[in-house]
Amino acid sequence: MTTGSPIRRYRQTKVVATLGPSSSSPEMIRALFDAGVDVFRLNFSHGSHEDHGERVRALRALERATGRPIAIMADLQGPKLRLGKFANGPVELKAGQRFRLDLSTEPGDESRVGMPHPEIFAALMPETDLLLDDGKVRLRVVDCGPDFAETVVVSGTRLSDRKGVNVPDVVLPLSPLTAKDRADLAFALDQGVDWVALSFVQRPEDVAEARKLIDGRAALLSKMEKPQAIQHLERIVELSDGVMVARGDLGVELPPEDVPTIQKRIVREARRAGKPVIVATQMLESMISAPAPTRAEASDVATAIFDGADAVMLSAETASGAYPIEAVSIMDRIARRVEHDPLYRTMMDAQHPDPQETAADAITAAARQVAHTIHAAAIVTYTTSGSTTLRAARERPEVPILCLTATVAASRRLVLAYGVHSVLTEDIQNFSDMVHKATRIAYAHGLAEDGQRLVITAGVPFGMPGSTNILRIAWVERPSLPAGQQDRTAQEQPQSPADLQQADLFHADAALADA
Ligand code: PGA
Ligand code: MN
Repeated sequence: MTTGSPIRRYRQTKVVATLGPSSSSPEMIRALFDAGVDVFRLNFSHGSHEDHGERVRALRALERATGRPIAIMADLQGPKLRLGKFANGPVELKAGQRFRLDLSTEPGDESRVGMPHPEIFAALMPETDLLLDDGKVRLRVVDCGPDFAETVVVSGTRLSDRKGVNVPDVVLPLSPLTAKDRADLAFALDQGVDWVALSFVQRPEDVAEARKLIDGRAALLSKMEKPQAIQHLERIVELSDGVMVARGDLGVELPPEDVPTIQKRIVREARRAGKPVIVATQMLESMISAPAPTRAEASDVATAIFDGADAVMLSAETASGAYPIEAVSIMDRIARRVEHDPLYRTMMDAQHPDPQETAADAITAAARQVAHTIHAAAIVTYTTSGSTTLRAARERPEVPILCLTATVAASRRLVLAYGVHSVLTEDIQNFSDMVHKATRIAYAHGLAEDGQRLVITAGVPFGMPGSTNILRIAWVERPSLPAGQQDRTAQEQPQSPADLQQADLFHADAALADA
């Protein structure tokens, strides 16, 4: 697809895909976008700044080529704790044997290995469990000091270089931003990423600290992967712009049987607050090496969508797997199938959160109802900060939300939100502008056909943030209808969808290039 054919998605749920060695050429990035990726994730646990910088350049070039805003998410590694290395490759352990962890940089063996994290030793106590290699090995502390821990192997038999360490039972005195994270964050903000994801958030203060550093230059997403964070779920959601159900580390820190219910709790809380929520990790894990998913994986993606998540995410499937395009395509197809199931609508409506007592919520809740009653093709929101559009997404309407904004940052960030199709365009000046622009763009982008209706929300005075106070129903008419049958002037009547598209793309191009 190149400039000239409108690009819209035929689903409300968004797809997030991680870029990596399998998916970083401009051609692959383009193919992933065409297959359905809305948000591209850069995983700062892997790759150099140079790698990530090249990906950002390819994504912004794609944005100019398609005229469609793209959201880029920088996912910071966070305090991911790791063991040191072993002298002679992997070691075999036996349940019941002693194993020592210490601060030494000497390569390890069957009896000990280095763990270069004094903060962990400081927080350990006898009886604390350490989980290594995603929980495959469990060690129990029998004795410890500021620079060592004497442990006994509870389960697991094999350890190799640089395996991850989780300590679920204790709140580690760690900032979620390591020195590496701070350098990565500065780089990512410099590159103009739209979302920053914060790993291993433990306390609400962690989010506040990151927010101060980010200083409004990107939206902030908290990854829920520590039991301590779940205890402060409500407050963390409130302080964040979005959250991720990071099931990989969550399922190590907590028993696997806890993950499904916690996923539902997090999604529900984020929906209540109107913050975008992503369900992540192992969604199509087997597709790292197979061209089709297992039935259980297809069902897992569907469950996240039934839960009402804004987005589902791919990690290794697209970053380093053999079938990145296939993984995106199947996710797209599952989302479309689920969203067209009558049961899905019943569930969305049953979990519908109440509007807050604000004008914006009253208008957006009404917009959803009106759109449903008159079978409108789309809801249109005019927004400056993006907040009205997020409230519309919170309504989980059955039709797309066309977000018209003059703010580049908002147009990109909102790509993550449920049902939002954002278009960068100039501010409107008056009511006639409001109707003409909405119908013209909805038609050009394939969101509405001739003879369909739109439900438009906006704020008067126009262009003032936080003033949403009007709801208007408008007919979409084919631009070439004879004069007199519509209220547009000849000058405002573009001749064909291609012309319409061209006009917006040109505008988007210019504005995105300036951004
Ligand atoms: P990660 O985060 O892939 O960066 O570890 C996601 C998760 O833990 O699920
Ligand atoms: Mn993680």
